[in-house]
Amino acid sequence: MAAERLRAVTESIARTAREEGRDPASVTLIAVSKTFTAEAIEPVLAAGHRVFGENRVQEAKTKWPALKELYRDVELHLIGPLQSNKAHDAVMLFDVIHSLDRPSLAEALKREMDKTGRRPRLFVQVNTGEEAQKSGVAPGEAEAFIARCRDVWNLPVVGLMCIPPAHEPPSPHFALLAKMAARNGLSGLSMGMSADFEQAVMLGATHVRVGSAIFGARH
Ligand SMILES: *Cc1c(COP(=O)(O)O)cnc(C)c1O
Repeated sequence: MAAERLRAVTESIARTAREEGRDPASVTLIAVSKTFTAEAIEPVLAAGHRVFGENRVQEAKTKWPALKELYRDVELHLIGPLQSNKAHDAVMLFDVIHSLDRPSLAEALKREMDKTGRRPRLFVQVNTGEEAQKSGVAPGEAEAFIARCRDVWNLPVVGLMCIPPAHEPPSPHFALLAKMAARNGLSGLSMGMSADFEQAVMLGATHVRVGSAIFGARH
């Protein structure tokens, strides 16, 4: 079931990319496996998929070390908020972190990278809807923050990430994120989920984060 839905999502991404004149290989599908057990994830691994996303460090630690023993070329993405005191575990387990959004976290990640020698790639999360309850740097502060990440902490920032407000059309947020990335010379764009990944690909997403459309509804 999940493997069939994975194939449908993969095909839909490829079709949309081609319609936009983009190489389908320029879009990475992150299969978001949060809340699902290793048993539910296995069929997607067995189908050949290797890029997965989790939103909690603690939960990922219970599932992925064992799965990574079986599938060594797995690429693991942290897509949820990260507390600075979990920076060590995050740097050890994840290959890409999408939720860099404040100086204290940048410093914690820098410290752990220097200590461990691991260098997960980073996306700066932008709160494009300027929602009070949502993580991410404000759009007006993103440029200065990105510059500090690069120049002060020498962090491997590869792109920007956003989660549009739940009850708004997502496209203006995707377009804003794309514009900000271009202005800052960043090629990575982490945007689009189950409901809107095609629109995200149309607006330049390089990474779409798709959970329920692959694994089914979360409880
Ligand atoms: C859960 C989650 C997703 C996937 O959501 P679906 O609607 O199930 O595709 C994507 N991005 C983030 C940050 C998430 O927390």
